[in-house]
Amino acid sequence: MKNISILGCTGSIGTQTLDVIRRYPDKFALRAITAHTDVINLKRIAEEFHPELIGITNEESAKEFSVNYNCKIVVGKDALGACATLECVDTVVCAVVGMAGLDGVVNAIKARKNIALDNKASSVCAGEYVISLAKEYNVPILPVDSEHSAVWQCLASGRREDVEQIILTASGGPFFTFDDVSQFDGITVERAIAHPNWKMGRKISVDSATMMNKGLELIEARWLFDCHNVDYIIHPQSIIHSMVKFKDGAIIAQLSNPTMELPIQLALTYPDRLPTVTPDFDFDRSISFFKPKEDLFYLPVLAKDSIAMGGSASCVLNCANEKAVDLFLNEKIRFADIQVLVKHFYGNISYPSVRSVADAQTIFDEVCEKIQSDYKNILRN
Ligand code: MG
Repeated sequence: MKNISILGCTGSIGTQTLDVIRRYPDKFALRAITAHTDVINLKRIAEEFHPELIGITNEESAKEFSVNYNCKIVVGKDALGACATLECVDTVVCAVVGMAGLDGVVNAIKARKNIALDNKASSVCAGEYVISLAKEYNVPILPVDSEHSAVWQCLASGRREDVEQIILTASGGPFFTFDDVSQFDGITVERAIAHPNWKMGRKISVDSATMMNKGLELIEARWLFDCHNVDYIIHPQSIIHSMVKFKDGAIIAQLSNPTMELPIQLALTYPDRLPTVTPDFDFDRSISFFKPKEDLFYLPVLAKDSIAMGGSASCVLNCANEKAVDLFLNEKIRFADIQVLVKHFYGNISYPSVRSVADAQTIFDEVCEKIQSDYKNILRN
């Protein structure tokens, strides 16, 4: 029996993790869960699984929360840490979106938990720090993201020193057929978050539409697999989840239906592979690849630049993007403005390397503040 803690249990990945636990009740027990504001679903989940520890990070929302059984509830900034370090827990699923998730990941590593990682900010903002910490504590980081799970599976077919390149696949998002920046005019939040293949949260859906999601995944791959040579290709069907190219030219790919069920389950059951409920793979279809249009969608170019730059470059890039997407989701800026703002601030802010959660948080706070006070002027020019 594996004891599981889910940080961010009401989101898309959290909810799908619960499906895996539900399917294999003899293999998994849910011992701790957290949510930020969605206390209605948190209550439903708690009363189904009866975890002994519940964390609510938003203090206001916590006031409206109660459950019909005995358990411990931690509220506020200590909520993630408590649920990440609960003694009986073996695996912590880190599914909190953005910088807020980093603290939970670091706490879980220090408590020597297995990490099922679905928090891009940890490897993007603090990749060097988080990976060296995981090495120091001898903690495995199991990727949940479909691309990184695919790379991880492909890497099993050869030696690390024989890897030449990691090639991520990208669906291209809802606007991959666009050829001109003028086509970005009038893209509403609703259109931007309607992804053709994947059902995801709002922030990551916007990142898919701008292609920044792939940029963040390139940075994540660089750190998770200690490989500088990372690139991506557009593959609209989302059937090949990523590839690894070896020195001899062999390219190993992982294929499956576009479902998060498989990577989530594998991160929990590894090295076992258990049946999933996804329908059988249908071979009666074609697979295509396209070169990315990096003149139009240039955020992944900045991501590759930040990998080469090292230091805090990737962190600044991620923070600028988080703030810009937030402005777009709140209808303060247009879709096309996201990459304009990110490019501007990425090129104009620098910090020393990230060596702690506090370092990353400082960069995040300062970059957000700067963008908040300057974005109207930048966009006017
Ligand atoms: Mg992905």
